[in-house]
Amino acid sequence: ATPTALLVGTGRGAQLGILIRGPEVLESTRRVDTIVLDKTGTVTEGRMTLAATVPVTGQDPAELRRLAAAVESASEHPIAAAIAAGESDPPPVAHFQNLEGRGVRGEVAGREVVVGRPALLAERGYDVPAEVLEACATAEAEGRTAVVAGWDGAARGVLAVADRVRPTSADAVARLKRLGLHPVLLTGDNETVARAVAAEVGIDEVIAGVLPAGKVDAVKRLQADGRVVAMAGDGVNDAAALAQADLGLAMGTGTDVAIEAADLTLMRGDLTATADAIRLSRRTLTIIR
Ligand code: ADP
Ligand code: MG
Repeated sequence: ATPTALLVGTGRGAQLGILIRGPEVLESTRRVDTIVLDKTGTVTEGRMTLAATVPVTGQDPAELRRLAAAVESASEHPIAAAIAAGESDPPPVAHFQNLEGRGVRGEVAGREVVVGRPALLAERGYDVPAEVLEACATAEAEGRTAVVAGWDGAARGVLAVADRVRPTSADAVARLKRLGLHPVLLTGDNETVARAVAAEVGIDEVIAGVLPAGKVDAVKRLQADGRVVAMAGDGVNDAAALAQADLGLAMGTGTDVAIEAADLTLMRGDLTATADAIRLSRRTLTIIR
């Protein structure tokens, strides 16, 4: 009777757009007590828009956007899409480099342009004036991600990028809690933005400002604390964490790497699918027994 029950479960799963890697996954869904949710592209839509351009005093905002867009046009990050979107014909970029989880750099007309999180420019020896830090604080207080662009040794302004929480995320978090799972928001984005998103969807625990490699460590630390961890992500910077988790859930709207790393793939691109997947898997397990 066992194989039949499993087939029923996976068949219903397929109807709901839930792909299960194998029968052993069902057992993990019963054991998990914590669910780590990647912010960008999982809790939020991951489709960002440029909300504000704040140049330093004397800087032309159009030039700021144009040079930032030139470098970002070579990146696939949702932030890059937001910044590159407004420029139809950006100048060419040479020696492009993706500085994972921090930003991008490249050369435009022979001069280095750096675009990324505020700390990145300081790390690279750029002068970051107080007015730039103030503009970052303002953007972050509004729940936006502050991206700083600079060249010729100094930060030239801030591009505030806005994402949207998926309309179904708060309901999904409530359902995950009813399934006995403690939700944790995990992100490379800054703490202020992370807290704002967490509050909006009903999450109390936030791990923010982590570099891509730090996402695996965050999952390991929760496991070391005795938690059995599910992790939902889209694979942009989090495939290794999905693989490390006791139960990895990939958003089907995400990358192929995510799907390879995951135990469950959710073809429906919203968070309620994670609650459906766990509930259905647990129920399937009950039928088998
Ligand atoms: P998340 O965990 O939300 O998916 P990431 O790890 O991809 O975020 O990125 C973390 C942070 O690094 C971003 O919030 C941003 O500040 C910076 N960053 C990453 N990629 C870029 C980029 N292409 N341009 C500008 N900033 C970037
Ligand atoms: Mg991400």
